[in-house]
Amino acid sequence: MSTETYAFNADIQQLMSLIINTFYSNKEVFLRELISNASDALDKIRFLSLTDHSVLDLEQALGIKIIPDKINKTLAIVDTGIGMTKEEMVKNLGTIAKSGTKAFMEALSSGADISMIGQFGVGFYSAFLVADKVTVISKHNDDKQYIWESTAGGTFTVMADEDPAVEKLTRGTKIILQLKEDQLEYLEERKLKDLIKKHSQFIGFPIELYVEKTKEKEVSESEDEEEKEEKDEKIEEITEEQEKKKKKKKKIKEVSHEFEQVNKNKPIWMRKPESITKEEYAAFYKSLTNDWEEHLAVKHFSVEGQLEFKALLFVPKRAPFDLFETRKKLNNIKLYVRRVFIMDDCSELIPEYLNFIKGVVDSDDLPLTISRENLQQHKILSVIKKTLVKKCLELFSEIANNDEDYKKFYEQFSKNLKLGIHEDSTNRQKLAELLRFYTSKSADEMVSLKEYIARMKESQKDIYYITGESRQAVANSPFTEALKKKGYEILYMVDPIDEYAVQQLKEFDGKKLKNCTKEVWSLRKGKKKRKNLRKPKQSLKDFAS
Ligand code: ADP
Repeated sequence: MSTETYAFNADIQQLMSLIINTFYSNKEVFLRELISNASDALDKIRFLSLTDHSVLDLEQALGIKIIPDKINKTLAIVDTGIGMTKEEMVKNLGTIAKSGTKAFMEALSSGADISMIGQFGVGFYSAFLVADKVTVISKHNDDKQYIWESTAGGTFTVMADEDPAVEKLTRGTKIILQLKEDQLEYLEERKLKDLIKKHSQFIGFPIELYVEKTKEKEVSESEDEEEKEEKDEKIEEITEEQEKKKKKKKKIKEVSHEFEQVNKNKPIWMRKPESITKEEYAAFYKSLTNDWEEHLAVKHFSVEGQLEFKALLFVPKRAPFDLFETRKKLNNIKLYVRRVFIMDDCSELIPEYLNFIKGVVDSDDLPLTISRENLQQHKILSVIKKTLVKKCLELFSEIANNDEDYKKFYEQFSKNLKLGIHEDSTNRQKLAELLRFYTSKSADEMVSLKEYIARMKESQKDIYYITGESRQAVANSPFTEALKKKGYEILYMVDPIDEYAVQQLKEFDGKKLKNCTKEVWSLRKGKKKRKNLRKPKQSLKDFAS
């Protein structure tokens, strides 16, 4: 049996020493992260089984088991998911660099909380918050059982698990945490139950906790003596005859172990919205996204008729760190077909400009056994997409009913709305209603185009705007003087993406949008045309800030 030693990727090494050496009180997140990985692995094997049932031959049951062991001070998280081949273990648990590793360390140094780790795609390493040694045993259908092990310190080992004495997994992964001496609370049943309920109650597979059960049982005193020596063993049934013989009886405690399911299993989106509390939505949102904060707004609806589906859409409070990373795949909307998870990277479900929306769609109409490629082109998806966009826009207008919430929303996601204006001609006017600008008459409060129009001078026909680097720069622009003199209000478009959006948004509510630098120029110079002061930018990346 040969053991191979590997060095962790340099960034991961740094992350691990940060996790181990920095003081964090919020260590409990490790369990949520490991359960979430287990659930992902189960989703993967279930998805494969839809088209090839034989992938479940070695193990039919899909679930997660949590096993605390007080004697050895270990906590094990076991899943019957897809497992990892040797190669995958080496790559996924330590050697492949991920953009999230550095980004997470940067976020931490600027005050972010460790509980954000899952959002950066490096959740596995949170195991080292509570463990000195982490052992990962994994069995993939295509490979033998392998053992990965690390005590941090820059390296990990991988070896084939060929010892016949060691219990073999049917399929999936077992993570064994050798808990640090001051983290033994994570062996307590109460603590584990609370944590699972708090963070993982909406995981779509049964999570079973290995619990101790104590039953009181009546036995005769003489039997009781014998029992004392093996108190964990089951007591034999007392036969009627024995009972007659022995008159003296006594109650003793019988200890046994069993698995108890801790999470509720009915998916929240299948329940009636009226029956769901705000806290339940928040708990579901957090488990869906690994966000540590609650959502800003939610929309839960079902569509009936020719096409039937249920959906739950969330607007987060903050934009993710990689919102405008163009190469990043979209994986914010989880697609289910009749409660079975299908995929979370379906680009046909939501347009790019709404890539900050998180949620779930569960369709009754899509075929379960369709291939990924065909699914992407399925007509039903484009109908679902249209509905999702409509519902998102409704949700944004609902947020706009509360000024404070809308401010937060707009700070984080106005770029997305503007990108939408450029891209989505069908919903352009609806999106334009959501825009807010500082103006020559409103330096501290942003106004909507509707408000602007409502207070236009009678003589004014068009909506005027000016683009530029900053509010100060445009406020002092000589181009605005003539219009200001007339008492006309001017919208200040000082976000680089404004110019890009306004190229497409030529009018609003029947009024033309006019660039006042061009207007004034043409007023002054007769019919001479003048080019835009700045060239409109084209690439999405240019708008990332
Ligand atoms: P993320 O899950 O966000 O990709 P992690 O650091 O938590 O990041 O995990 C790294 C990778 O290790 C996962 O993407 C997955 O491929 C693999 N992995 C982790 N846990 C498991 C598991 N229980 N079963 C199978 N693969 C796993």
